[in-house]
Amino acid sequence: MRRFLIAGNWKMNCGPQETSTLLQEIENIIGNMPEAVDGLVCPPTISLTTASVELQNIEGLALGAQNVHSEDNGAFTGEVSTEMLNEVNCEYVILGHSERRQYFGETDKTVNAKVNKALNDGLKPVICVGESLEQRKADEHKLRVKKQIQAALIGVEDEDASNLVIAYEPIWAIGTGETATPDQAQEMHKMIRKEIADLYSDDAANQIRILYGGSMKPHNAEELLEQPDVDGGLIGGASLKADSFTDIIHIAE
Ligand code: PGA
Repeated sequence: MRRFLIAGNWKMNCGPQETSTLLQEIENIIGNMPEAVDGLVCPPTISLTTASVELQNIEGLALGAQNVHSEDNGAFTGEVSTEMLNEVNCEYVILGHSERRQYFGETDKTVNAKVNKALNDGLKPVICVGESLEQRKADEHKLRVKKQIQAALIGVEDEDASNLVIAYEPIWAIGTGETATPDQAQEMHKMIRKEIADLYSDDAANQIRILYGGSMKPHNAEELLEQPDVDGGLIGGASLKADSFTDIIHIAE
């Protein structure tokens, strides 16, 4: 059985000081993560070291980054490497978030290079895919997401497939307060799982966790998490408050 993964994407929020405060608040509310649920927080790069120290007090809550470069090291101003993320105990890295695709020139090709680099260096990629409102209206959402997945996974070997996490994040639902309906989410998650089965195996498809992202909040988390192919959430806004993030963790429990 797949375990739920409740992941917070903090985006460009919380410097080191706020990171300490927020993680201490989370610790005060939940202590350690409940047995049945895996947790993840992805603070900005500058706060990873602080988070890594705070997370020693919260068992089951892992650390992730929001991006990484595909090269080992070198003249890439402003970037961070897999080695650096490993050094501060990151276990996961979010790749191909729609904001990175939209504002920072991330393409299917760069996402693919980063996915391979992350896997080779022991980081678990959380690969974000999702369609725009125009694509959904034109009934191109399934094709778009399928293509994003195929492109992201070029060169990824069978044995690595179970280390992947995929986040389905319809762009029109991110930060808008508008959520995919449970049926819409389930339909897409089922299709994504089928795609993994086609690319790899039924085993890999059964193991891989597919998160829903896009305005997941305590009031809608239950109906989304109830869907058979929704294995957790990638949560933006609601992960920045200890009470709403831990509420969603308890809903998943
Ligand atoms: P949101 O963000 O929960 O604020 O919509 C989700 C995400 O972008 O990962």
